[in-house]
Amino acid sequence: IREKLFDTERLNTINQLSASVAHEIRNPLTVAKGFLQLLQQSPSFSGEEKRYLTFSLDEVKRAEKIVSDFLTLSLPQSENMVHSTLKEEAEQVKEHILPYASFHQVEVKLNFTNTLETTYDRNQMEQCLLNLCKNGVEAMTESGGMLTISIFEQKKNIAVQIEDTGVGMSKDQLKRLGKPYYSTKEKGTGLGMLIVYNTMNKLGGTIEVSSQKGKGTTFLLTIPPNPTG
Ligand code: ADP
Ligand code: MG
Repeated sequence: IREKLFDTERLNTINQLSASVAHEIRNPLTVAKGFLQLLQQSPSFSGEEKRYLTFSLDEVKRAEKIVSDFLTLSLPQSENMVHSTLKEEAEQVKEHILPYASFHQVEVKLNFTNTLETTYDRNQMEQCLLNLCKNGVEAMTESGGMLTISIFEQKKNIAVQIEDTGVGMSKDQLKRLGKPYYSTKEKGTGLGMLIVYNTMNKLGGTIEVSSQKGKGTTFLLTIPPNPTG
């Protein structure tokens, strides 16, 4: 199944919400989580009180997940803008995803051959690639699999291909991809793909997805180069 997906309208609302909210929320959440975890270990609470603590902790963790999918979708700051090939960002994302991948028995490969440059917000690019990689890892079954990130030149564009050997998607699932809060995961946010679409929209790029149930999924991002910076 192969579909071309793009819907600019969906994305506009999100742009406005984003700002630096995620950054501002992350620290207090981390503090609250730490104290709740401490309290949970205290022997002086009753069973019912412990249930309240667990409930609070779960909610804080959920908020943290949302923030982590959103974190860099802040207003571009000039110091974050770079003119580059995506090499450093791809390497950074690989490093970042490795522990999560190995926890899920997933091997990660990075093939980088691109030499074309474009202008982008480094944090946002990393967040975009990371969200795709996270989904790839999360798509794997218990027996693990392979996540392959390839960045190369294709018809004078920068091509980013992220391929997994996971559960795949049906045609219906593909259609809903990128809609806010669409998630098939028990504790999913449904916000990860939104950032991906948003990033590509800003860069004038395109997203193609091919997926087969039970076989895996391949995302192909095509980004026009910007030789002058
Ligand atoms: P979340 O990961 O929190 O569920 P996302 O926006 O990142 O939210 O993804 C939305 C949904 O798209 C996922 O719940 C999943 O159903 C589907 N999806 C995204 N990427 C993949 C993938 N690589 N393989 C299978 N399904 C995927
Ligand atoms: Mg996700």
